[in-house]
Amino acid sequence: MSPATVSCPTCGRELEWASAAFRPFCSERCRLVDLGAWLTEQRSIPGESASGAAEPASQEPAAKPPRS
Ligand SMILES: [Zn+2]
Repeated sequence: MSPATVSCPTCGRELEWASAAFRPFCSERCRLVDLGAWLTEQRSIPGESASGAAEPASQEPAAKPPRS
């Protein structure tokens, strides 16, 4: 029997699926790194596509000149 191995999505290191405590990641650190990157993507994507539709009120003070 050959053990099923997976590649860590963060660092690409191969690990045994059965014995990986933080699968599909090789370690808790890699899991947190991937989670952080995922959250960053999720935060930036809706900001681009939903600009103007999400918070129309926020554009009013932006269009207004700061100095009087
Ligand atoms: Zn890793």
